[in-house]
Amino acid sequence: MTVRHRRAAGPSAPAETWNRRTAATGPDAGPLDVRGHWLACAACFRGGCRRPPPGRAVIQRLLAFMWAYPFAPLRILADADVTRAHYLDAHEGRRPGGLPRDFRARRDDYVWRRRDLEVCRILGIMPNTEMPAYHAYRWLFERQPTLEGLCRTGAPRSAGWPQCPHARRGYYERIAGQSRVGNLHEQFLLGERLAGRGLWAMVRPRGREAMQRDKDRSARFILAGARRLYIRPGHLLCVLCNVHADPGRGPLAEDNLVELYRRMVREPDIPVTLTEGCDMVCDACNVYHPGEHLCYHAHFKSALRDLVVLEKLGLRPGATLPARRLYRRIYERLGSLAEVCGWRPGNVAPWFAPCNPGKGVLDRARREGRITGRPVRLRRGRALPGC
Ligand code: SF4
Ligand code: SF4
Repeated sequence: MTVRHRRAAGPSAPAETWNRRTAATGPDAGPLDVRGHWLACAACFRGGCRRPPPGRAVIQRLLAFMWAYPFAPLRILADADVTRAHYLDAHEGRRPGGLPRDFRARRDDYVWRRRDLEVCRILGIMPNTEMPAYHAYRWLFERQPTLEGLCRTGAPRSAGWPQCPHARRGYYERIAGQSRVGNLHEQFLLGERLAGRGLWAMVRPRGREAMQRDKDRSARFILAGARRLYIRPGHLLCVLCNVHADPGRGPLAEDNLVELYRRMVREPDIPVTLTEGCDMVCDACNVYHPGEHLCYHAHFKSALRDLVVLEKLGLRPGATLPARRLYRRIYERLGSLAEVCGWRPGNVAPWFAPCNPGKGVLDRARREGRITGRPVRLRRGRALPGC
């Protein structure tokens, strides 16, 4: 896939300032407390609801918090603890002082408490768990594209369980029901035109020109300027995946995997430093936050993968090796990509979901000596001498 310049980004391309580091974005930034059902009401609001039950001010504050920073931490609340009051205290006045603070108001809030807990159930989290807005909405929309079972339960109407007046208006579905918008390449091409579509109605996409400018600058640097390469260990394998079928392929618009491959093939002795976290691949990616130097799509799982690769290679974070020696180690020590990217399905949270590593990628790279220039042959998992 080659880079297509829809519009050349020159020096006049506007700088994108919203995704710089601020006091609200650092790793220690405090979370915003949000009740579980507010997440759904905020989607309804984006879809056209003008009178959200939690109040406009509450929802607008939540939306502004997430729009400023897609990885904004949310603490998702659900008041299960109100049920810890003993029933004799609660119903027979045995020990009124033993009741939790605001007990009555909290108990009487059962309609919304149920929805808060439903949202926790859908997300697969404990109440009061902190998670980034991007992931909260990614999985809420993926698993709950309609309000069925959340605000429309099918239970017989009753005075004690009023239904929200907005539950059947389609506001929520207008946003959550949009299927996931494309892959990273399509997201790169759309840029700010993604805004308002599905997940991207809740968190802000990067601008197209800013991404193109970062692509041009970073690709130029990798191909010509850099004296050493900085690559996260997991991406060493992604490089091989991307050139598996066609080592001569053109660069991708949204990342620099192909550029790194070309430079290492051209100069196999170029030093490569293994960096944890985002690296030279990421500058132009739609889910990369330049200010925080963070991939909000895969921050956690990529961090784990990096360490898995380092352990298999017997290297520490920050180790520096010539590219050919690094890849030789990979060919000698890794049997297949699935050892790193193919975590068993069924026992992982979605934000640690396995990748779908292509079969035979590593075998072929090993056989053809990609980047090393010399093939490596394995017998019973060990490299044969002299290869
Ligand atoms: S329908 Fe549900 S999500 Fe929408 S505003 Fe009402 S309570 Fe909130
Ligand atoms: S930002 Fe994330 S998804 Fe994008 S290239 Fe980097 S690691 Fe990959």
